[in-house]
Amino acid sequence: MKLLLLGSGGREHALAWKIAQSPKIEKLYIAPGNAGTREVGENVAIKADDFEAIKEFVVANGINMVVVGPEDPLVKGVYDFFKNDAALANIPVIGPSKAGAVLEGSKEFAKGFMQRHHIPTAGYKSITSANLEEGLAFLETLQAPYVLKADGLCAGKGVLILPTLEEAKKELKEMLGGMFGNASATVVIEEFLSGIECSVFVLTDGKNYKILPEAKDYKRIGEGDKGLNTGGMGSVSPVPFADEAWMKKVDERIIRPTVEGLAAEGIDYKGFIFFGLINVKGEPMVIEYNVRMGDPETESVMLRIKSDLVELFEGVAAGNLNEKTLEIDSRSAVCVMLVSGGYPEAYEKGFPITGIEEAKAGGSIVFHAGTALKDNQVVTSGGRVIAVSSYGTNKEEALKQSFTNAGKISFEKKYFRSDIGFDL
Ligand code: ATP
Repeated sequence: MKLLLLGSGGREHALAWKIAQSPKIEKLYIAPGNAGTREVGENVAIKADDFEAIKEFVVANGINMVVVGPEDPLVKGVYDFFKNDAALANIPVIGPSKAGAVLEGSKEFAKGFMQRHHIPTAGYKSITSANLEEGLAFLETLQAPYVLKADGLCAGKGVLILPTLEEAKKELKEMLGGMFGNASATVVIEEFLSGIECSVFVLTDGKNYKILPEAKDYKRIGEGDKGLNTGGMGSVSPVPFADEAWMKKVDERIIRPTVEGLAAEGIDYKGFIFFGLINVKGEPMVIEYNVRMGDPETESVMLRIKSDLVELFEGVAAGNLNEKTLEIDSRSAVCVMLVSGGYPEAYEKGFPITGIEEAKAGGSIVFHAGTALKDNQVVTSGGRVIAVSSYGTNKEEALKQSFTNAGKISFEKKYFRSDIGFDL
């Protein structure tokens, strides 16, 4: 099979690494990929949301399947683009339709969906400038801290958690006034939930589904989970509190009603669903849906999937995922993200990276995120640069290996959190 993977981050390198292990793969292309994905496939200089260029490439190269890494092409409708084009209609796209991607693309839609299907989530109200007064009154009924969410995609920056009522009221007005452009023309005000978060991933063909290994990610830049939010500084799988009893609740109360709800609403969904959950006194509740895998969770989750991922994708495409097996590695897997100094604020790029081979020799799997190739030298090209992933018989062992190997990789102003997994 010739498979085209769309995307260019650490998540895509991890997906490409796993896909390339499948004996079914004759050729793997990654568009646009990064300096790491070229180790396991061929990079193609096409942007993940340039649908016309993707079409041309797919037709010219006889591609048999397309797998979508990031949310952008999904929200823009890459699945529907293929389905509605006579030349592409027979090529499966692993990722939801545009209607399904709205689960991530609109927080208002996601909350309404959960309400319709009785899926546990925080109480909320959806506000525009037309019902601002209602929003201000709703805030008065809540306890601090206050959660305000821009309805649309804001690259992980559209959620504000505010300590006082005054600030919440002020920020609500600013968001509606265009703080995040059109993405915050509607704002979801939510009850604050207190607990530890956990990411649960599902692969579905729209009817059947497989629950992939869960993971916990570390969003803040500073140790002890302090400071600004980032794309994610590391991840750990499995998550100790997500034991069999807890996962049974997640399955019965959250996953099944979501998959059934999508089908009942006539939404075409063949791909990953990412459930951002929070454990509130032992009970799982949904914080958010994403319509793709998480990054950096993928960089630990892929290590724990023993089965052939491409065979699972075939099950998704054919609608017989129930006939496929998913075997999970019982070992722990973790990832520690090396980032550019200054990130998530301003940072410099273009610094040469050394020590990657030494880190690999030390037993870690090194996934590239923001890297590029310049005159045959791997250099930094983003905020999150490299994910150092490792296995262990327990998370402590896996983390020790990742931290040791993270120390072997060098680039100017490198930074990483040395407390990943500290709270588990
Ligand atoms: P990302 O894409 O980075 O995960 P996002 O912009 O899609 O973020 P959410 O995941 O909904 O937004 O929220 C970001 C973070 O804010 C959550 O991971 C969680 O830590 C916190 N958060 C969101 N909603 C709540 C809530 N109701 N109670 C407590 N914390 C919350």
